[in-house]
Amino acid sequence: MAPSLRRGRLSPPRYFLAVPEAAPFLSCGPAEAAPFPFCGPAEAAPFPFCGPAEAAPRRRARRCSYPCRVTHHDAAIGIDIGGTGTKGAIVARDGAVLERVDHPTEPQAGTKSILAAVQELVGRAADFGVELSCIGVGAAGFIDAASGSVTFAPNLVYDDPHIAAALKATADLPVVVDNDANAAAWGERAFGAARGSDHVVLLTLGTGIGTGFIVDGRLIRGFTGAGAEMGHTIVDPDGPACGCGLNGCLEQFTSGQAIARMAREALAGGEASSLAEAAPSLAEITSHQVSRAAASGDEVASAVLRRAGAMLGVGLSNVANIFDPEVLVLSGSVAGAGEAYLGPARDELVRMTAAQRRRPLHIAISSLGRDAGIIGAAALAFDEAS
Ligand SMILES: [Zn+2]
Repeated sequence: MAPSLRRGRLSPPRYFLAVPEAAPFLSCGPAEAAPFPFCGPAEAAPFPFCGPAEAAPRRRARRCSYPCRVTHHDAAIGIDIGGTGTKGAIVARDGAVLERVDHPTEPQAGTKSILAAVQELVGRAADFGVELSCIGVGAAGFIDAASGSVTFAPNLVYDDPHIAAALKATADLPVVVDNDANAAAWGERAFGAARGSDHVVLLTLGTGIGTGFIVDGRLIRGFTGAGAEMGHTIVDPDGPACGCGLNGCLEQFTSGQAIARMAREALAGGEASSLAEAAPSLAEITSHQVSRAAASGDEVASAVLRRAGAMLGVGLSNVANIFDPEVLVLSGSVAGAGEAYLGPARDELVRMTAAQRRRPLHIAISSLGRDAGIIGAAALAFDEAS
């Protein structure tokens, strides 16, 4: 954040880099690209001007500190809480991130972390004259969106499962709470790689696997909010035990923790690999190290990624059979492993869908990246909060 925008340092704090509702400008960009009347001359502003979205990635958007003449009256708070971090943002209706917070999630107190992020953002909105209309939360775990409550969260402790009720009691705004991957899918559909599609499946490939499904333009939540958990569909009943209580879940073959485990198993089995020098001990090998080793030509690491990718392709073909999506969006750190992982996934998916003479699916890498959750949560709130 620009120092001059901190509380009390912009006086009066009424002016804000704002985007007219009809303008296709989403973030900051070069002055010469901006036919934008609100942000003043470039030399007066320590940050670049408003400009076309393609001129500046949204994730690097910053507010201009030059006093603009427009105040944003249509913004929502979007929160994305996971086991390690709680991200939040003030998001305009056009998807622009206007202000953000990013804190570690409090151990044993997920709801407290959400409330703290929301209170911080409400304060900043007041400082800068932004009117908030609603709050959206994408939360890790099984979420009953109807009540805004957590029903089960294997990797995160919520001190109060009734997130929506807790927020309404403190912020007095309409609230929508949903699963974090659902929120990310909604964000990619609204502003990202799946823009405009009514048939979208999003996979977040990180430590675990999260999935969000949009069918006929609607999120699939299930009867209790525990639906659309593709990571825990079984691809090998005799496979490794999963934290969910089952064996052989897709997550146990394709996630970051699975890639690290498979690499450890290979080394423990006596296979020679540069990974032996990459980590202090076998137990500390990470999927990121496996990706780097594969990129350097390590055959053991490459084989692990091929296996993980091929299994992802199997999972995606199952998705194709059940939901027939138009776009598959892949996100998360493991998707960054690149062709060594994604190539086998694509090949396997193509092989299986071609056998059925299916129309090829469009596979896209997330274009919102780490912001998909906060932007999607805000978009969900705009669309569903009442
Ligand atoms: Zn599982």
